[in-house]
Amino acid sequence: MMIIMETHATKTQCNHALAWINNKGLTPHLSEGIERTVIGIVGNIRTVDHEQLLHLPGVDSVMPISSPYKLSSRAFHPEDSIINIGNQPIGEGQEMHIIAGPCSVESKTQIIETAHAVKEAGAHALRGGAFKPRTSPYSFQGLEEQGLEFLAEARAQTGLPIVTEVMSQNHVDMVANYADVLQIGARNMQNFPLLKQVGKKTNTILLKRGMAAKVDDLLMAAEYIISQGNTNILLCERGIRTFETATRNTTDINAIPVLKSLTHLPVILDPSHSTGHWEFVTAVAKAGIAAGADGLIIEVHLDPRTAFSDGDQSLKPAQFAKLITKVKAIAQAVGRKTISENLYIPQ
Ligand code: PEP
Ligand code: MN
Repeated sequence: MMIIMETHATKTQCNHALAWINNKGLTPHLSEGIERTVIGIVGNIRTVDHEQLLHLPGVDSVMPISSPYKLSSRAFHPEDSIINIGNQPIGEGQEMHIIAGPCSVESKTQIIETAHAVKEAGAHALRGGAFKPRTSPYSFQGLEEQGLEFLAEARAQTGLPIVTEVMSQNHVDMVANYADVLQIGARNMQNFPLLKQVGKKTNTILLKRGMAAKVDDLLMAAEYIISQGNTNILLCERGIRTFETATRNTTDINAIPVLKSLTHLPVILDPSHSTGHWEFVTAVAKAGIAAGADGLIIEVHLDPRTAFSDGDQSLKPAQFAKLITKVKAIAQAVGRKTISENLYIPQ
């Protein structure tokens, strides 16, 4: 349920409404917009008398919320959320945000050289997996904590914030100590204990859509995180499983505008995993930006043929630099801020 305050409702009237909700044993969530203040109510709303609410001073109207997700819904929070990665904002009206790097951290020199290369091309953040969710238990599983150390070294040299996956509840504290952004992979999108645990952290969370998850399932997963107090969430479309086998997954471009209408959270696209082939990554990246994505996450490898994971879908640094030029043109064409030059001052 949502309370919409009158345009000129005073602070005292808002506080009174908040106290009233608290007294009923419910949780109010205040959203102060430019036009109006909205108060969302979470809890057993059956105990609430609508008439009483309507008669509280400063209350304009009361609306039920039909969606099962509340705090992540646009109805609850009409203003777009702007989330930070390092000190760079990402979200509606902000500069298009690019995260790039290898699928896996393979060695110190590999991640440091890649970090310099993607930074030079215009990336805002560095990705790289230290804990890898692999289909086969015999495939490379990641360098684990050593991989995180190498990522931290790459950040120290380039100033690029780090995005890396956390796969297990046991590793949340460790990964959070190194990373700027905790990635929840497609395979863990509905690992509810993991979602709850990252919800207790202050790191930004990059939540990837499960390969068989509906948009609503993704939003319910975000709700798990946000309900624990962490509102810094980026949603990521990374392709879904369909009958099509020409690509690794099927990019659900629809999900971008659909998510933008249903939620205030920023939405990014991963055209590397959604296509599975480097030849198609740039075209689909352009489509994502044209459709309104707030950013992209792209796999880049110095020598894709020798990559420990996802070489087929990885761009070489020069190809990535070309991608940036092309998506910048699309961003410009659709009226969104592109990437400013020399974003980072190396530390
Ligand atoms: C990845 O980002 O390398 C990854 C494993 O992604 P996803 O969880 O989307 O498959
Ligand atoms: Mn990958």
